[in-house]
Amino acid sequence: MRKHPSITLERVMEAVERGHTSLDNPGLCIACGKDADGCEPDARAYECECCGRNAVYGAEELLMTLA
Ligand SMILES: [Zn+2]
Repeated sequence: MRKHPSITLERVMEAVERGHTSLDNPGLCIACGKDADGCEPDARAYECECCGRNAVYGAEELLMTLA
């Protein structure tokens, strides 16, 4: 899977943490690198509101993908 260079492990960890400590459900678009909200933690290949590609992953899902 090709990821946008801005998608770093540190950034994914921060999103996971935010999901645990708030009511946010953060996700990230791996195509354009934009933050997405309202993702289930296990979201996979959701459509990105920014770039329109099916590349939004929930933070925890992305963490497992990166690990
Ligand atoms: Zn995008």
